[in-house]
Amino acid sequence: MKVLKVDHIGIAVKNLEESLNFYTEVLGLKNEGIEVVEEQQVKVAFLPCGDSELELLESTTPDGPIAKFIEKNREGIQHIALRVDNIEEALAYLKEKGVRLIDEKPRYGAGGARIAFLHPKATNGVLLELSERE
Ligand code: ZN
Repeated sequence: MKVLKVDHIGIAVKNLEESLNFYTEVLGLKNEGIEVVEEQQVKVAFLPCGDSELELLESTTPDGPIAKFIEKNREGIQHIALRVDNIEEALAYLKEKGVRLIDEKPRYGAGGARIAFLHPKATNGVLLELSERE
């Protein structure tokens, strides 16, 4: 398994448009466009930050994972994504090591990336996402 870099940091927000104002108007980051990822019940915006990105996530349903996260923890950092060179290999390796996974198989995330989440119990409480992009 090879980790290439921090791909992005996922931030759960209640209102994407409002949050974007701060990141674009105040911090001067560029919004690469808003995308709805049906499977994960989220609306996301990616803001490149040098070699990695910030991902703002708003729930599209009152009972989606991001809505539940905000209910429990308020808005804030929800996950950290690591870019790997080969996600199948990484998942097979982690499984062999007995690491608890949320996704045993990769699924599609925003921007066509292939992603998989590790269980926070295996990562000292951090929701880690693995991400592979072309
Ligand atoms: Zn993410």
